[in-house]
This record gives sequence, C-alpha cells and structure tokens, in this order.
Amino acid sequence: MAGRPTVGILALQGDVREHAALLEDLGARTVRIRRAEELAEIDGLVLPGGESSTIDKLARAFDVRDALVDRLAAGLPAYGTCAGLILLADRLQGGIAGQRTFGGLDVAVRRNAFGRQRESFEAELDVPELGAPPVRCAFIRAPAIEEIGPRARELARLPSGEIVAAEQGVILGTAFHPEQTGERRFHERFLALVARAA
Ligand code: GLN
Repeated sequence: MAGRPTVGILALQGDVREHAALLEDLGARTVRIRRAEELAEIDGLVLPGGESSTIDKLARAFDVRDALVDRLAAGLPAYGTCAGLILLADRLQGGIAGQRTFGGLDVAVRRNAFGRQRESFEAELDVPELGAPPVRCAFIRAPAIEEIGPRARELARLPSGEIVAAEQGVILGTAFHPEQTGERRFHERFLALVARAA
C-alpha cells in the first residue's frame, strides 16, 4: 500500500455501491470481491449489509470462503455492517440451518434482533470513541451483539441496552448502516485501521 489503500468490498450480495462511493470519497481505491484470487491485492475488506445467510451460501459457492477466513485470521483489517457484522462474528444466534460465519470478532450476534415492530428504524447513537456529534444510524432488520468475549470491546449501545458496535484489533463491526445516513466516521476509523496495519 503506497499512500492510497485498496479496499475490497465483498460483492456477493448486498449494498456494495454505497460503501464504494463513501470509501472512494475518503480517498481509498475500491475493488469488488467475488473470487479468492481477488483477495490478494487488498489492504482491507468491507462486508456490506444484505442477507447474511445468502452471502454465506454464495461465499461457499464461489469458493471464496476459505481464503477469506484465512485472510481475516491472518490480520486483514475488516469492517462489517449489519449482515457484514453477522459474518464477522465468531458466534451466531438465530441463523438458518447450516448457516456459518467467517469469524474474527469475539462476539455472539443475534440475527434479526429487533423483531417485527422495529424491523427498521433510525437512531441517534452516542459513540464515545467518535466524539460529538452523535451518530445518526439506520437499522434495517438489524442484528445485535448479545455477548462480547474478552478479545473484543464494545463501541456503542442503544438506550434500550443492545450492543450495536464493537471492535477487535483491526476488525470493526456495526449492526447499523452508517453509509446510508451520510455518517462517515466509521469508515474513516476503518481506513485508519487499514493504515495502521500496512
Ligand atoms: N437481517 C439480515 C441478515 O440476517 C441483515 C440485514 C441487513 O444487513 N440490513 O443477514
């Protein structure tokens, strides 16, 4: 990485375009990732929102899963939003039969944690690490972090108590979609992790 980082966006399914636009705007080069070979050239990876069980299935069908798990374990910086957070979690609750995650983040995540009446909502969230102002974020059939293991740490929780953002070394996960509300600070933080790892 000479100056400008190359960030891969896992493009099997989900909201790839919004992440690409925001990351390019913040000065990164972005590439879509669908195949194992494509992982070789990246300095960091974004796992977008979408449907985690579909992304899991496609990752196996496209034969990219094993290479991805290996690179994450070897210290590739990663940022997962919503379904992406689910895919980064070491432990999954409420998955469909046979659903697996890639892992990397020492947390247990519950899929669709907010039930029907709040399937989608926006919230203002205090994130001490990001300072003022609060983060405006969109939750879309979002997961929640049920339990944080000793290697990860909480970054934010809703007033109702659910943990919705966590970090572990160079891995970052949010249950919400900052890319859909014009919030740039999580992506900036991720790019700082990418720079640190380089
Ligand atoms: N409910 C979806 C899942 O289980 C996540 C929703 C999202 O990414 N916006 O994967």
